[in-house]
This record gives sequence, C-alpha cells and structure tokens, in this order.
Amino acid sequence: MHFNTACIHAGVEPEPITGAIMTPIFQTSTYVQPELGVNKGYEYSRTENPTRSVLQTALAALEGGKFGLCFSSGMSAIDTLISTLKSGDHVLLCDDVYGGTHRLLKRVREKQGILSDFIDFSDLRLIESHIRKETKLLWIESPTNPLLKIIEIPKVVEIARRHGVKVAVDNTFMTPYFQRPLDLGADIVCHSLTKYLNGHSDVVGGTLIISDETLYQELKFIQNAVGAVPSPHDCFLVLRGLKTLAVRMERHQQNAFDVANYLVGRKEVNWVRYPGLKSHPQHDLARKQMTGFGGMVSFELKGGIEAAKRFVKGLHLFALAESLGGVESLCDHPAIMTHASVPQEIRMKLGVSDGLIRLSVGIESADDLLSDLECAFREA
Ligand SMILES: *Cc1c(COP(=O)(O)O)cnc(C)c1O
Repeated sequence: MHFNTACIHAGVEPEPITGAIMTPIFQTSTYVQPELGVNKGYEYSRTENPTRSVLQTALAALEGGKFGLCFSSGMSAIDTLISTLKSGDHVLLCDDVYGGTHRLLKRVREKQGILSDFIDFSDLRLIESHIRKETKLLWIESPTNPLLKIIEIPKVVEIARRHGVKVAVDNTFMTPYFQRPLDLGADIVCHSLTKYLNGHSDVVGGTLIISDETLYQELKFIQNAVGAVPSPHDCFLVLRGLKTLAVRMERHQQNAFDVANYLVGRKEVNWVRYPGLKSHPQHDLARKQMTGFGGMVSFELKGGIEAAKRFVKGLHLFALAESLGGVESLCDHPAIMTHASVPQEIRMKLGVSDGLIRLSVGIESADDLLSDLECAFREA
C-alpha cells in the first residue's frame, strides 16, 4: 500500500456493529465482562481502549514498525522510554534536542540516577568517545530544533550496534512522510503527536513505535502502570488528522520552499536555514536520508533582539506562538520562547542567538505568507 493510501486506511476497519466508516470515540472507562475471567479484549481504558488501539496500529503502519503505543503528550512518550532504564544507566543525546527532553533528563531523571550527556552528533568520533559501558541509549533528533542540523541516522546506528546500544529517533519534525527512521536502522521512533501528525493544533499527545516484541511488552507495561494515556477523543482527533498527513506535508514543504527562498533575498537577514536549500551545510545528506525537507524554516535577523521584537510585532498572519506543525503558520523566537529553559551559554554555543527566528510554515496560500513577511520587514 502506498503511503498516501496508508494515511487513510492503515489500521482502520468499519465498525462491526453499525458499519460506521469512521472509528468511533469509545468514551468509556470500563467494559462489561460476559462471565468471570472472560472479556472481549478490553477491561479498563487505561490498559486498552478501542479508539486508541486503532490509532496505535495506524501509527505503527505509517512508520513501518510492528507496534505503536500512544501517550498523553510527547514528553510522556519520551519519559516512558527513559523509564525502561535504571539508576546508573547513561543516555547520549544530540546537543540541540527539544528543550523539554533536555529538562526531563537533567532536572527530573538525573536525580533518580539516570545520567545523560548532550553532544554534537554530527561528529561521529565524538559519539564513539562518549559511549561508556553504562550507555544504554543514543537519542537522535534530526533535523534538530531550531537549527535544522541533519544527523546521519545510519552512521549513528552503526556505532550503536558495535556497542550493543539502542537508538531512538524523535521524528516529530519530519513525520514518516519524509523520513522513516526504522527503515534506517533505528530501534525506536518517537513523536509529539501534538505537531504534524495531528496537525490541527487541538491535541497534545505522543507516541512510541517499535518492532522488537520484548521492548514493546516492557513499554506497554509502563504505559499501563504509569497511566499517561491519551483520551479516546484525542485519539479520534489524531486519527482524523492522519488522513490528510500526506497532502498537508506536501503543502507545508512547498510553502516552506517559497518562504525560505524569499528570506534568502532579504538584506535584513544574516542567514536562512532550510534543509531543502542547496546552501544548507548538509543538503546532500538531507536528500539521501529524507524524502523531503518539511515545513520548518529558521533564519537570523541582523540587529539582534530589537530587530526580532519589531519583526514579530509586524506579523499578522504568522501567529507568535510556541509549538509547530499545525495547518496555520506560527512564528517562534527560540531564545525567549521554546528554548528559554536552555542555559544561555549553551544557547550561544548552539547558535540560538537573539536574532534567531523559527517559522512553522502552514498550509495557507504562499502569497499571503510572503506578503505578511514583507509587511513585518517593512515595519521593522
Ligand atoms: C513538541 C515536541 C516534543 C514534546 O511533545 P509534547 O507533545 O509537547 O509533550 C518532543 N520533541 C519534539 C521535537 C517536539 O517538537
């Protein structure tokens, strides 16, 4: 089945009693058991819920994995994977990961003895030299946030295999439409469903996708034991969002190309970062590893914080907001907004300067988006 067809059909069957073509919202906490010790596969909705089951199957199919598990947020999905580790274990992560992942590891899990290091994964020798016998997991985000660096997933997998370490990829920015980490050798894929997979900025959710049955059983056990599960209604909304994933991603990409090319031509801009541009330092790697370049564009304004303040004030269509991946265009100032929890010296080292702007380019008409940017430059 082609990907575009799978977005609409994978995991979804007509509901057996009525033939409803859309998966119903099974808004129930419990299930009547016909006799003692007998059930129909469902006992309690923290453990299993039919709407969630369909979503989990659909997501696993789109990522090319055997099993999917859904959670109440991207962070709870990530934390569930971290919960498979024990005190003394070590995780190695790429340095400009999502700020919340950094916060979880350093400010919550470290107190419980789970150790972590954040390093530049584009330097493969650096990865090799930071793996120790306690290292259990390598954590990749590619492209990274907000600088859109590309990490060569198969090369990191090769190193991990040599050391008997697992590889997880946060695929939130690309979605399986543009990148399939399991096909590239990774063991685990995670997503914030909040972003492109739901795509309509009306759900917070997360998922883990795996093919190894033993790891799946362990993660499923934690999902039920901890209980950070999504509501049936949220699962329904993500299922609905998935149906248009392929067409949305195409349009996000088209518009991102238009926006990136427009920004390249502006004298107020120091540089533009979009993996689809030939000027991106890892454009060739992006082409090799991904089937497209996504909808996120970052650029640096000349004139630092003052220029940034004026610029975002001049935007009317791009909304100043955290998050990304919805149908509407958003503008983020990483240093003050999404990456404020990253200490300043680390921000500077990563290149998250006060003039840096990150755009989540939506699926509006590109002409209107460019006019909006034009207007912001004029007012700045
Ligand atoms: C948003 C995001 C997360 C966290 O997901 P939530 O749904 O907000 O908990 C993790 N990774 C990336 C790349 C994200 O963009």
